[in-house]
Amino acid sequence: MTPQTTPGQADVGAEPLVSLLRDLKQLTELESPSSDPLAVCAVQDVVESWARALQARTHALPGGTRQFLFGVPESGGADDKALLVLMHADTVWPHGTLGEMPFRVEGERVYGPGTYDMKGGIVGLFAALRALQGQYPAGGIEVLLTPDEETGSHHSRAVIEVAAQRARAVLVVEPPVAESHALKTGRKGVGQFRVEVQGVAAHAGNKPHEGASAITEAARQVLAVQALADHAKGTTVSVGCIGGGGAVNVIPARAFFDVDVRVSTLEEGERVTTAMQELAAHDERVKLTVSGGLNRPPFERSDRTLALYAKARALAEEIGFDLGEEVVGGGSDGNFTAPVAPTLDGLGAPGDGAHAAHEHIRLDRWPDHVRLLTALLREL
Ligand SMILES: [Zn+2]
Repeated sequence: MTPQTTPGQADVGAEPLVSLLRDLKQLTELESPSSDPLAVCAVQDVVESWARALQARTHALPGGTRQFLFGVPESGGADDKALLVLMHADTVWPHGTLGEMPFRVEGERVYGPGTYDMKGGIVGLFAALRALQGQYPAGGIEVLLTPDEETGSHHSRAVIEVAAQRARAVLVVEPPVAESHALKTGRKGVGQFRVEVQGVAAHAGNKPHEGASAITEAARQVLAVQALADHAKGTTVSVGCIGGGGAVNVIPARAFFDVDVRVSTLEEGERVTTAMQELAAHDERVKLTVSGGLNRPPFERSDRTLALYAKARALAEEIGFDLGEEVVGGGSDGNFTAPVAPTLDGLGAPGDGAHAAHEHIRLDRWPDHVRLLTALLREL
């Protein structure tokens, strides 16, 4: 394609910031916790109306994901594969959050629940799509708007993996890294486990020897589990929740703890998973039940992802800013596509405070990142 303008001149709309802010306000003020499918649907409906205004073909896929097709040939078996763009409509914020952290602009920052993660990414993508004015790359652009990324993508993983197989590259409009505004070229794999401990109850004063304390067993297991971490290999293991017992004068029959695991390689994921499944009780009267596993494979920093990054970096330089890249600990839906297709993440709105009360987008930086996304969609 020969673009009429250089990326540096790419327009993000007639009144860029005004329209970006208007759209962001509209999406942010529709609270959409992952736990409320109807609320998430309301956000998807608005975004679908934007897609229709651009003549996209739109579909509701199984599991609550919306699919928008821009310039994708209608007949199957086309030679050119589509570019796939991933984004999610849900947020971690419960209903009522707007009361404490309303949508508001303060200087160069725009605050509100879900602005940075990742309604700003959705708004930026649509500004970029409009700027393309119907000039889509060969094979077109397929966009998936999922409903449940923040709770592990259990209902959308299958459609994401299928879409990745027909994509020549995947762009994820999750936010860039806070402060550095760098793209994400790798993410750790994420796992969660629950260990349930079943002991034997007894009177704590009269017959303690008849009991088998689930709490004592859990305490020993917690130390064993945390020792599975391997700093040099980037593997972290953290017991984040624990509970058990009932009354203080009873040898406790029940306890549980929950484990968060992050790995940089599939090999490490398998090592930790096997070790968790093979946990054995120290006291033979105690039973351990381990559930859970790795729910996102690692997004390994690969040559093909770095090739996409190099392209993005060159485009950013033409636009006039320096674009870095980092590997991060948090997962995204890019973890599902990276093993299948070249994936670049962090193409959303720059800011800070994901999942935190100071969540915001940086208005001074945002238009450049929208220009970058526009240029990438045009030239990849
Ligand atoms: Zn996100």
